[in-house]
Amino acid sequence: MRIEQVEIFHLCFEYPEAQRFRYAGGVCTARLTSIVRLRTDTGLVGVGSAYSHPGMMDLVLRGQLVDLLVGEDATDVEGLWDRMYGMTRWYGRKGAAMTAIGAVDVALWDLRGKAAGKPVYELLGGSDSTCPAYASNLLWKDSPEELAEEAAGYVQAGFLRMKMRLARTEDYDRAAVLAVREAIGPDRDLMVDASMRYHPELAKRMGDFFAEQGVFWYEEPFAPEDLDSYVGLRGKVGVPIAAGENEFGLQGFRELARTGAVDILQPDVSRCGGLTETWRVLQMAEEHGLRAATHTWSDAIAVIANAHAISASPVGITVEIDQTRTPFIDELIGRPLTVTDGTIWLGKAPGLGIELDDDVLERYRLPDPLDLPAGSYSDMMFGRQHLPPVLPYIEAGA
Ligand SMILES: [Mg+2]
Repeated sequence: MRIEQVEIFHLCFEYPEAQRFRYAGGVCTARLTSIVRLRTDTGLVGVGSAYSHPGMMDLVLRGQLVDLLVGEDATDVEGLWDRMYGMTRWYGRKGAAMTAIGAVDVALWDLRGKAAGKPVYELLGGSDSTCPAYASNLLWKDSPEELAEEAAGYVQAGFLRMKMRLARTEDYDRAAVLAVREAIGPDRDLMVDASMRYHPELAKRMGDFFAEQGVFWYEEPFAPEDLDSYVGLRGKVGVPIAAGENEFGLQGFRELARTGAVDILQPDVSRCGGLTETWRVLQMAEEHGLRAATHTWSDAIAVIANAHAISASPVGITVEIDQTRTPFIDELIGRPLTVTDGTIWLGKAPGLGIELDDDVLERYRLPDPLDLPAGSYSDMMFGRQHLPPVLPYIEAGA
């Protein structure tokens, strides 16, 4: 099975005014994703996606990887991964190059499954055609009542778990957690994301509060570089610490595991190096007695690819599904991702079991990935007017 063509699509979706959201990174106006589609001489097609700067993805893919891939045997997934990694090592290893490699790698796994007539989770040794999934949203709102109403909606929609964003002020963070906990009751899982905005003393104080509220995990209290603060916090609060959405490659996650920084690793196939590397991370998690819950904040390809890995892994907890209503989640694969009793269905179809909707690829196509319209794309900002204001975090009693 030879690779004949590498198609690259960069997509941009602008939220209608009323759907824009606020969080610690400012006001999000739009979203971006980059998609890779591999066509082979067998007629089989594989898809993957990258969550990064589209211009950087384009440079790495068109500048180096396409040339390496065309004409190669698509079934040599790990061999191609090694060659892509080697070719980008001097500027890669973490960040954009690993993300671009990951998009190709996910498409290769999709092809591997299609060629074998098996879903990816089966290739990875799994047998469960479903995967637990949680609602990810509950961003900054004007009042705790609005958050409570949103949270109750996820319960109605079939979710058993959900994640909220904090790191606004200490009073807000506490009131927000109390309101959502009250709305969903004691039996559903609540996760909190501190958006890397706490300092060690505050993180401990908030961690004690989260433990009282039965929080299921406590995500990114600190920046990914600040391993010492993670090491200092873990085990001192009665709630599991989670991080990894800003980490890349096995070597990055190995640092988190070796130092004892976290309880739950959060790799993302669309960011950290694809399914090949995410699977290595999940196996390492198992060896270290850690658990894993993949991150996704981009598109349905990433959710589904992450879900195949989580479903197959004995230490996989759940996948994340963005609930801000973007077409990259709701329309890209021709159907919305529906959750029943807290799980999504992966089915028995070979590969990732998904087809792309070409109309969506056309409708949201970004004409030039190196010329991004000004805006805030959640994790990336372009244009001075969209830079987030420096908001001090106000602690209680301050
Ligand atoms: Mg997060």
